[in-house]
Amino acid sequence: MSISDMKKNVVDHIYAMKEHAAEVLMELVRRPSVFGNEMGAVSFMKGTLDAAGLASEIIPLNESIKSHPEYTNYTEEPVWNGRGNLVCDYGGNGKGRSMILNAHLDVVPGGTWTEAFEPMRDDNIITGRGSSDDKGGAVAAYLAMKALADRKIPLSGRLSMHNVIDEETGGNGTLSLLCDGYTADAAIVTECTDNVICPSGCGALWFQLTTTGTSTHTIDVDEGISALDKANQAISLLKDYEKYFVDHCADHPYYRDLDHNPNQLCISMIQAGVEPCMMPECCNVEGGVEFVPYKDIEEIKKEMRQWLLDKSGPWLRDHFELRFDKLHNAAYEIPPDDSFVTCIQSVVRDLGLPDELKGRVSSCDSRLYPRVAHMPVITLGPGMTKNIHTSHEKIRLSRLLKAAAIYACTAIDWCGVTEK
Ligand SMILES: [Zn+2]
Repeated sequence: MSISDMKKNVVDHIYAMKEHAAEVLMELVRRPSVFGNEMGAVSFMKGTLDAAGLASEIIPLNESIKSHPEYTNYTEEPVWNGRGNLVCDYGGNGKGRSMILNAHLDVVPGGTWTEAFEPMRDDNIITGRGSSDDKGGAVAAYLAMKALADRKIPLSGRLSMHNVIDEETGGNGTLSLLCDGYTADAAIVTECTDNVICPSGCGALWFQLTTTGTSTHTIDVDEGISALDKANQAISLLKDYEKYFVDHCADHPYYRDLDHNPNQLCISMIQAGVEPCMMPECCNVEGGVEFVPYKDIEEIKKEMRQWLLDKSGPWLRDHFELRFDKLHNAAYEIPPDDSFVTCIQSVVRDLGLPDELKGRVSSCDSRLYPRVAHMPVITLGPGMTKNIHTSHEKIRLSRLLKAAAIYACTAIDWCGVTEK
């Protein structure tokens, strides 16, 4: 059978599995796999793979990642025991290039959305928490694996599906697999991109700023120094830094034509003082910076701290602390002439889809592949980027099937086939 017949055969099979895809996705959405409660969804996927004749294994999270520079700290240390990622391999006689399809099964909480975990279907559209982010991507990856296996496509390189946990909280699930050696020659992360090829992702850095003053009674305010006033000065300096950083950000080819500026600094939380009759002695401010891949994350940390040191008045200069203890996701980019990028572009062209390359605005686990394992990575998933983390998160089944077709055809081209 020719390669193009093989692909047609697999793609036809994927499109014929629309109802199966809908059932699997709705069952997945019914499992509220919020942080710490992911294993119901993981076990369900394992059962689904078993039923399709695909062997898989749950790999426990490796606690030694806590000392890794890419490790994300939690606000509260979670239970590690009994939680893990699901790994399923197909094909691979060692002579072709290997590839990973990475999809996360954890979701953000439903919040005020009472029906978040009661999926609804309206013909082509499935609504529910995780339908787009990223259970739809997980089902698309599963369909691609199943179609290749059902049609007995003899992939030369190994295709692996990694269903990870902990993506929404920073990426420790994917980090754990990479540290345990679950790597390949390339990876597709199925995070929602409306099926656009994204060879790049923005970084996200959370900061914690503490200012201190000296407390007095409210009758002696002239004698004291308000930590809150000092925090306000620091916030205004950080907004100046944002302006500097936007102005100095090189015009990035993957981030042209966006309808908003991807470089932003946001002040999100402020807490100060203990009593209305006391000047606040301590003020804690938290916020985040989002940035395109133009600078290393360590440089941004250094630059922000130096900016405050250089521009602060005498008191503030000696009475602030700037920390980056929580989320610290670096930005990354894979060059447009990378062979994995051009491979996916040719696949989507063959499928009659646009082959444009765009930067993804928010950060996800993709960054860990180049950062930790020096692997090329593409983020491409069927989810709708507009409504994730909202109370009307939804996905189009037709788009999910297209993503599955892209994954399967990329596996055929990238991993190669060994004809008997
Ligand atoms: Zn996601």
